[in-house]
Amino acid sequence: SSKMDADGKKDFSTAILERKKAPNRLLADDGEGEVTIDNSMVALSPATAFQLEIFTGELVLLRGKRRKDTVCYAVFDASCSDGRVRLNRVVRSNIRVHLGDIVTVKRLDEVPTGTRVQIAPFEDTINGISGDLFDAYLKPYFGNDALRPVCKGDRFIVRGNMHAVEFKVVDTEPADRVLVRPDTAIFCSDQPVKREDEERLDGPGYDDVGGVRKQLAQIRELVELPLRHPKLFQTLGVKPPKGILLYGPPGTGKTLLARAIASESGAHFVVVNGPEIMSMMAGQSEANLRKVFEDAEESAPSIIFMDEIDAIAPNRDKTHGEVERRVVSQLLTLMDGLRSRAQVVVIGATNRPNSLDPALRRFGRFDRELDIGVPDEVGRLEILRIHSKDMPLAEDVELERIGKDTHGFVGADLAALCSEAALQLIREKMDVIDVEEETIDVDVLNSLRVCNEHLKHAKEV
Ligand code: ADP
Repeated sequence: SSKMDADGKKDFSTAILERKKAPNRLLADDGEGEVTIDNSMVALSPATAFQLEIFTGELVLLRGKRRKDTVCYAVFDASCSDGRVRLNRVVRSNIRVHLGDIVTVKRLDEVPTGTRVQIAPFEDTINGISGDLFDAYLKPYFGNDALRPVCKGDRFIVRGNMHAVEFKVVDTEPADRVLVRPDTAIFCSDQPVKREDEERLDGPGYDDVGGVRKQLAQIRELVELPLRHPKLFQTLGVKPPKGILLYGPPGTGKTLLARAIASESGAHFVVVNGPEIMSMMAGQSEANLRKVFEDAEESAPSIIFMDEIDAIAPNRDKTHGEVERRVVSQLLTLMDGLRSRAQVVVIGATNRPNSLDPALRRFGRFDRELDIGVPDEVGRLEILRIHSKDMPLAEDVELERIGKDTHGFVGADLAALCSEAALQLIREKMDVIDVEEETIDVDVLNSLRVCNEHLKHAKEV
């Protein structure tokens, strides 16, 4: 349902946040149901499958968030509600959806046979295991009667006798989605994957940014839409913006927002730090900027994020530095030189938009500006919810109250408040945690709760 303003006119400014209704956009349910499903299956109600012209046993493409997709077999399940799709945890995590999120389901006509797939275990799941992972885990997993579809980048968990190991599909040939048949060569890499590297690869999503609903809608329209659907703009004969300026105090989430746009739209992300570039040797600053633009065009679609852009491009009338003059004109040349079809967008962040060289703010350069202000009460609550979502909170915690009482706090302050509260809890528990021990008692871990007192204490720090 779209919002109407007081005169009953439709407000289109956040239209991009609304989900288009289509029959193949289904809601994600968990794996429990009448029909048992594994890592390569999804279950649909017969009526929904019929509407999408999918038959039982057919391969379907599932698309979730952050441009992630995977392939599974469809199975009918009468216990499944219409308009929903049942997925187990492995599949949900591969397409980055949670329960209740939208999954787009489409029948796939052909998936080529894999000639070669390369698989690596997650380091943290093979600690303490020795022996041949291939024989113990991969062979039984792929060796059963089913021909498993796999996609490059997918992760899956195989339960052995004693221990579950998680694997990642590192590479597939001849395509990014293949069917593993008996003659497919399966390689198990002895280079395990590190969890941290994986998480870094993922980047933040839109739901990690709070209190900026309007700005998020605007930036998605200005950046994500042209990066993903350049044809739309070409057809209408309009040029998407090349540059966008985000301004607001430090810690309000400008960097986070730019990163979220990049990871959700699948764009390559490059960061240029203003002061850092300026501290380089004479000539190096310009050369570096040129290199950044070249790389971005090569890996397009790309987002170049210029943090503290005012350090690079201060008002030329007010500076006397020769270096600044040269760097500003280099930046202008590079931005003017970006082909409108290059699918590169430059996002600049600054705390002081007025100290920027006006030439940069002209049409065709940074011609859009978004105010990322200090969050209000509702925004603060949203941000507190984001940063406490993985924390066990005690019953007495009233995030609404904390949101009310933190006037003037920006996102970074609220994030720090949440971690300080957790630290305070740990300090309190030091008497039951034995630092000398290798492990911590599970009962201790399960009893940990962040209480209102901890949050109140953290607010005062
Ligand atoms: P800026 O670029 O505006 O200085 P950052 O994006 O670097 O701010 O914010 C620093 C950290 O503070 C983020 O990584 C995040 O943990 C937290 N944070 C800031 N703003 C927000 C926000 N609007 N929503 C959620 N977290 C935020």
